[in-house]
Amino acid sequence: MLTYFQIYLFIAFAAITAFYAYRGYNRIYKNIKLGKPENLTDNPSQRLRNMLLVALGQKKMFKNMTPAILHLMIYVGFVITQVELIEVFIDGFTGHHRIIYHAVENIPALRSFYVFTISFIEVISIFVFIATVAFLTRRWLLKVPRLNMPELQGFPIIDATIILASEIYLLTCIFSMNTADMAMHNGEYGFLVSGMLMPLFDGMTYTSIHYVERIGWWGHLFGVFAFLCYLPYSKHLHILLAFPNTYFARLTPKGYIANMPEITKEIKLMMNPDAAYAAPAEQPAEPVKFGAKDVFDLSWKNLMDAYSCTECGRCTAACPANQTGKLLSPRKIMMDTRDRLEEVGSKIADNKGVWNDDGKSLIENGYISVEELRACTTCNACVEECPVMISPLDIIVQLRRNLIMEESNAPAEWTGMFANMENNGAPWQFSQQDRLNWVKE
Ligand code: SF4
Ligand code: SF4
Repeated sequence: MLTYFQIYLFIAFAAITAFYAYRGYNRIYKNIKLGKPENLTDNPSQRLRNMLLVALGQKKMFKNMTPAILHLMIYVGFVITQVELIEVFIDGFTGHHRIIYHAVENIPALRSFYVFTISFIEVISIFVFIATVAFLTRRWLLKVPRLNMPELQGFPIIDATIILASEIYLLTCIFSMNTADMAMHNGEYGFLVSGMLMPLFDGMTYTSIHYVERIGWWGHLFGVFAFLCYLPYSKHLHILLAFPNTYFARLTPKGYIANMPEITKEIKLMMNPDAAYAAPAEQPAEPVKFGAKDVFDLSWKNLMDAYSCTECGRCTAACPANQTGKLLSPRKIMMDTRDRLEEVGSKIADNKGVWNDDGKSLIENGYISVEELRACTTCNACVEECPVMISPLDIIVQLRRNLIMEESNAPAEWTGMFANMENNGAPWQFSQQDRLNWVKE
């Protein structure tokens, strides 16, 4: 009876999770596809190398050892505890209890391997617990500046805390489940850490210990299902998106800023006026739009960057504009891009797949301000620092191009410089013929 109840409840939970998780991940996929096409499939071996080193190997995290080691503990723990989850899932689906253990209990080598694996998971879980408490302390007690900036107030800081608290919840479930199971079977399994915790159940009846074991087992399962549904709404989506994001990261040198073909053509004609008469006047199919004003004008990779941002703030901590008190925070650029994309995506979904202009854009309207865009020095420090190869600069440059070339929105000093460049081919107010006059003096 209990077995069937377990199977039915497990299948019901799994079906509900599949439904909500599909909705969440499908929403993200559709939103990313709102971006413009961009081909980032060249040099697959270099891309694979980037993904293995940066996403799997956490290479860029190790610039700062303490948070890197703590993060590695949580990351390794997260991956390794999934091994025990495999058995929990099979048990849930078949109505058994520790099905893998009972399949190998009479084969000494395999039994030892099973016990070693679960014991190893338990030891790793202790490190995960320490790292999680350290992260909570760092965020809430030590108030590390990059984790307490204005853009993190509200949901972002709650989101980070929910995930850390969930980590502690899951660890509590794992240890309740294993320790109660050990106590019910007089330590038969031989797990390392839960074996040491067994005395906590001294004096309790078998039935009470069984309840604790069941609460731990179902609690663990429920926690994992809830986590899968919550992930598409959290910055922790990066645990999945870090892999495609590093694979599809641009391979061009960091200082490279892509030219706009229309402008390149104009400049070539400016430098060779005869070609202007010779070249047939081509009319573009659609009016040319310079730069990006809203999420539709960015590429799908820019939009995936926004969803992959871990909100760690390493970019902002390294940004010279931010360090000198300017409003600009590259992390906020990514968060604003994601928030605007979410807004656009939900309006399209509400309107049955059709976009009706809402009169807003990514610039101003509570998103990225002109002041922030102007503060960027294009130094690339944010790109260099990012642990998942995001480029806030790429978005900034595109928005700034739109501001200047479509809206003529630039400070007077810049406008003078642009006019000089157009007329004289240099930022100074001198004719090209006078360029070498200084030599005479
Ligand atoms: S490129 Fe711009 S946003 Fe990035 S660190 Fe430099 S100044 Fe800051
Ligand atoms: S852009 Fe990169 S460095 Fe900046 S907050 Fe996001 S993940 Fe961290």
